[in-house]
Amino acid sequence: MILKVNCQLCKVDFLNNHKDRYKKKYCSSACHHESMRANKQDISIKMKRDYESNVVKSDGCWGWNGMIRKDGYGVINAGGHNNKILLHRASWMIHFGEIPKKMFILHKCDNHICSAPSHLFIGTQQDNVTDMISKGRRKQACLKGERNGSATITEQQAKEIKILLKDGLNGVQIGKIFNKSRCFISKIKTGKTWKHIKIEE
Ligand SMILES: [Zn+2]
Ligand SMILES: [Zn+2]
Repeated sequence: MILKVNCQLCKVDFLNNHKDRYKKKYCSSACHHESMRANKQDISIKMKRDYESNVVKSDGCWGWNGMIRKDGYGVINAGGHNNKILLHRASWMIHFGEIPKKMFILHKCDNHICSAPSHLFIGTQQDNVTDMISKGRRKQACLKGERNGSATITEQQAKEIKILLKDGLNGVQIGKIFNKSRCFISKIKTGKTWKHIKIEE
C-alpha cells in the first residue's frame, strides 16, 4: 500500500512505498541523515549541559551530583529514552572528542564517579579486562594479608618500617625484611595502622 507521508524534517509530502527504511519518516536519505546529525548535536548539547551542572571539579578526583548507576558509575541523561551516557565516557568526549568504536574509557584512579580528564585513559577491551584483573588482584592480595592475621609487630618494628619507607624502600622490599605482606606495609605507609608511631623528620 502506498501512503502519503509528511517528511519529519523538510515537511514535504511524499509517497511512502516502504522500499527504503528511511522512507517511513523522511522523504530522502539526505533528510534522514540531516535529522540524525541534528539529533546527535542535540544529544551533545544536553550532555554538556547535564555534565557542567553536576560535576564538582577539584584538584584531585572530581565529584558528581548527578545520576549514579547501580554499579556505582555516574550517568548522564542526554534526553529521550536510551540516551544515557556513562559519565566518564561523556567527560572524555567533552574534553578530547569522539571515542573510536570498540574503545573503552578507563579510570586510573579507580573512582567510578570521577570524571577528571587527567584520571582517565582510553583502552581496548583487553586493556579493560587486564585493568579489572590487576585491580581485583590488588584487592585480593590485601584481603589475604588481613586474613593471615599478620598484624603482630612491635612498636620498634613499626618505627623501623616507617624509617625504611622514608628511605625510599618499597612495600615488597620491606615486607621481605619483616616477613609481612606488601599490603601490611602499605597500611602502615598510608597511616591505616600504627598511625600514632612517629619518626623524627
Ligand atoms: Zn524531507
Ligand atoms: Zn579520579
